[in-house]
Amino acid sequence: NTLSSAAIRQLFLDFFKSKGHTIVPSAPIVVKNDPTLLFTNAGMNQFKDYFLGNGAPVSNRIADTQKCLRVSGKHNDLEEVGVDTYHHTMFEMLGNWSFGDYFKKEAIEWSWELLTQVYKIPVDRLYVSVFEGDEKEGLPASTIALKEWQKIVAPDHIVFGNKKDNFWEMGDTGPCGPCSEIHVDMRPDDERALVPGHLLVNKDNPQVIEIWNNVFMQYNRLKDGSLQPLPAQHVDTGMGFERLVRVIQGKSSNYDTDVFSGTIEKVAAITHQTYTAGDDKMSIAFRVLADHIRAISFTIADGQLPSNTGAGYVIRRILRRAVRYYYSYLSYKQPLLFQLVPVLATQFEHVFPELQQQQDFVTKVIKEEEEAFLRTLEKGLKKMDDIIANATATKMIDGEAAFELLDTYGFPIDLTRLIAAENNITVDDAGFEKALLAQKNRSRAATALDTGDWTILKEGQVNFVGYDVLTAQTEVLRYRMVT
Ligand code: ATP
Ligand code: MG
Ligand code: MG
Ligand code: MG
Repeated sequence: NTLSSAAIRQLFLDFFKSKGHTIVPSAPIVVKNDPTLLFTNAGMNQFKDYFLGNGAPVSNRIADTQKCLRVSGKHNDLEEVGVDTYHHTMFEMLGNWSFGDYFKKEAIEWSWELLTQVYKIPVDRLYVSVFEGDEKEGLPASTIALKEWQKIVAPDHIVFGNKKDNFWEMGDTGPCGPCSEIHVDMRPDDERALVPGHLLVNKDNPQVIEIWNNVFMQYNRLKDGSLQPLPAQHVDTGMGFERLVRVIQGKSSNYDTDVFSGTIEKVAAITHQTYTAGDDKMSIAFRVLADHIRAISFTIADGQLPSNTGAGYVIRRILRRAVRYYYSYLSYKQPLLFQLVPVLATQFEHVFPELQQQQDFVTKVIKEEEEAFLRTLEKGLKKMDDIIANATATKMIDGEAAFELLDTYGFPIDLTRLIAAENNITVDDAGFEKALLAQKNRSRAATALDTGDWTILKEGQVNFVGYDVLTAQTEVLRYRMVT
């Protein structure tokens, strides 16, 4: 299929417009008014209050494309990024919402209509998953996702999932509910004939990937871990745009689509290296750069500068991770990332114009960050070599050493972990935390290392205990989790 990514995005918005949805702009990536969240991690974040019954949306049917970032907290994909071909730090989430309006039936029918009739994805490549509680009898058919899917999808294309995959939660608190996902099997026909696709759903097969999640918002997770029914029932869907483009353009990696080809070509031109789409370090480095520059650029454009604390430190970490990849694996020792900003600014001019508008500023901030980190990187990597050489017996970097790498050489702990993992050794996390705390107590330049987007509840509260609280609800029994 020759549809461009821009056309694919527009078809999504036009489709939901034709179903009565109001199209709204993406909210900023940086969240300013929610103490439980640093970055937008899903399309629904900006609508959280409406689910909770506080305030009313402009329309009870909305659709958009939302800039999301999943690098910390409950949704953290950083370690996968660049290593696999379909998890990004920043990605676009296409979404449609019903606020107390349509529910499972319409959401399911429309998602199927869009994928199979508008995008023309072959039906035999699609699989859907439902929350395993759906299986049980007793609820009105119209409230059971499974019953809706059975009308349109063959039985061996329906998969039952557990809480991890089929009960969506925004974070440790907030709106949540059972969900139904759509997966695409992109394997060649001979492989598909050997192993049926339904066996590979949610099994980390790089060619059998989840593209769309339809969440049926029915509960609010409270701080004590319990679930409270929401005042009304809502639909919240999220489709990974880059994954959708890959499927429609028939590629085996998101990075082979026109979403990333511009930046990859630019990196190749700057470094005089060739991208080969393999699993080797150089290929990973290309993917890391093509990915990370988006997160860095759009976050800065949305007002978050790199810094030593909070959201700013998350951005600094991503930037340093990217620098380390080009330095070590593309043999490029000068600032590189800032040179990619113009490519993105032009590419997203009509989707997220904020980057184009602040192109000079964003470029300057990134360049200065790169220069500053490059000044100590070489020394830090030498230090790291020594540490690794001394760790052959213990297979572990002790906490003091990891702390010194941070304090003296500016190596965020996840960079140290990354390099350690490449050398098959681990990091003494507890020792590192201890050293960090000791430094804080000495009150020298306290670098608050926020590793989570979300306020951390006390241990044990993340367990799925909520349904017991809802004993008056029939649905409770349906959805009780088997763990
Ligand atoms: P996965 O299981 O692949 O990690 P998820 O179940 O965590 O995805 P959801 O929270 O259901 O993802 O988000 C809705 C959609 O957003 C997914 O179906 C997927 O297409 C897309 N998506 C999620 N995480 C990422 C990511 N890190 N990069 C790109 N797309 C993503
Ligand atoms: Mg995930
Ligand atoms: Mg999933
Ligand atoms: Mg999902």
